[in-house]
Amino acid sequence: VAAETAGVAHLDPAVRRLLADAVGAQHVLVGEESTAAYDNDWTGRFRGRSAAVVRPGTTAEVAAIIDICRRHAMSVVAQGGNTGLVGGGVPLHGELVVSLGRMATVGEVDVVARQITVGAGATLAAVRDAADRAGLAYAIDLGARDSATIGGTIATNAGGLNFLRHGGTREQLIGVEAVLGTGRTISHLGGLLKDNTGYHLPSLLCGSEGTLGIVTVARLRLATRHDHRVTALLAFGDVAAAVAAIGRLRSMLEIIEAAELFLDTGLNLVCSAFQLRPPFPTGHAVYVLVEVADVQDPTATLAAAVDHLTGVDDVAVAVDSVQRAALWRYREGHTTAINTIGSPHKLDVTLPLDRLAEFIETVPSIVAMVDDTATTWLFGHIGDGNIHVNVTGPADEDERVDDAVLRYVASLDGSISAEHGIGSAKRSWLGLGRSEAEIETMRDIKRALDPDRILNPNVLFG
Ligand SMILES: Cc1cc2nc3c(=O)[nH]c(=O)nc-3n(C[C@H](O)[C@H](O)[C@H](O)COP(=O)(O)OP(=O)(O)OC[C@H]3O[C@@H](n4cnc5c(N)ncnc54)[C@H](O)[C@@H]3O)c2cc1C
Repeated sequence: VAAETAGVAHLDPAVRRLLADAVGAQHVLVGEESTAAYDNDWTGRFRGRSAAVVRPGTTAEVAAIIDICRRHAMSVVAQGGNTGLVGGGVPLHGELVVSLGRMATVGEVDVVARQITVGAGATLAAVRDAADRAGLAYAIDLGARDSATIGGTIATNAGGLNFLRHGGTREQLIGVEAVLGTGRTISHLGGLLKDNTGYHLPSLLCGSEGTLGIVTVARLRLATRHDHRVTALLAFGDVAAAVAAIGRLRSMLEIIEAAELFLDTGLNLVCSAFQLRPPFPTGHAVYVLVEVADVQDPTATLAAAVDHLTGVDDVAVAVDSVQRAALWRYREGHTTAINTIGSPHKLDVTLPLDRLAEFIETVPSIVAMVDDTATTWLFGHIGDGNIHVNVTGPADEDERVDDAVLRYVASLDGSISAEHGIGSAKRSWLGLGRSEAEIETMRDIKRALDPDRILNPNVLFG
């Protein structure tokens, strides 16, 4: 069910007193005026109503909240920056929201180990800035960097703009502290890189979308900071040429950091939403934004690689940060620009690289066959085979388009969720990506770590 609305959310006064004792009365928010910002998701498609929002300041306080909820059979939704795009972080049925925003400590960078320990509520931007100040980099980056939290990115195993070179959040995660649904606190933050001592619990929690435990602290790997960056926007006449070019660039450029695709319709929308001048005097069908980064100037290397491509109709190159930001605006503006015309159905999918062009060319007609008033917007991290299919027009609760697109993805051996997770939005289709045996195994894990099923009950499983 797409947009579910909780009826009356009620918090027992006795439970409210216990929560207030645990975290301080000022950190228990009750009433629509105080909780509104936590009740609805970023897209506006998923709307809920929380019984209350609690804002713990320590892991011990999170453990106390879980203990209270277990004893009083109250369900809990963990929330970070509430930028998730699959309706996973909102209280659809009157759950208690546990907001990690106060747990935003960013520790000292350990320059020798190239690691940092941070609170789950620290924003991605704060962690990236801290790494930068120490001469290093945190490899995960995404458009919602100023609001998305480390806890949220761990819970969703966020991918982002630099996945191509550095992998996703799981690859950066060395250790976690978390309170499980059992009430147990686990903490493994020592930062040892070689540590084969049984199940790797950080990996299990990463991508679990708040269904197994609440992450409170994380130990993260930092990467080399590449101070020399060059961004190029390449224009193509058709999708096949653009996809072929990405394949060639990936094989020629080890220093490639991002490869993002968007189409002329999306570019026009972004330009009109933000009053931007288009990048080229004439329009082109497809655009690919490529960024390379190195410890020395990579301009000549990128130019030589682009020279080897066929089908490139125009190129804009940016070497300084202002020009680069201007080129990135065309790509990063997509999510916000699409939101200005309605709450979109967001289908974030991966295709095998050899099916990408076929998918991009065909999916708009599949959407139109289901709903001829719908508009399809396509953009994404093409270097990873990851396309964001956004559809505007269908009502929030009308899932016919979602069904058609996700089934098409599965028929091409793709994944129905590349990086946003399953959340509430895609739980009906989990079986398209996972076998019965896999889903049952996931349920076994859920039963073991959250025996009372109080953690994120609306997420992942149908
Ligand atoms: C403009 C824009 C661009 C984006 N670009 C990308 C992108 O490139 N790549 C990408 O992967 N995503 C992207 N996203 C999606 C979103 O930013 C990520 O999913 C991000 O990881 C969510 O972080 P958050 O703190 O906002 O989490 P929330 O939205 O608050 O929560 C997301 C999920 O994580 C759970 N959760 C949150 N905190 C915790 C915790 N401490 N412990 C346990 N569970 C928790 C929630 O219950 C929920 O299920 C984008 C979103 C926007 C709005």
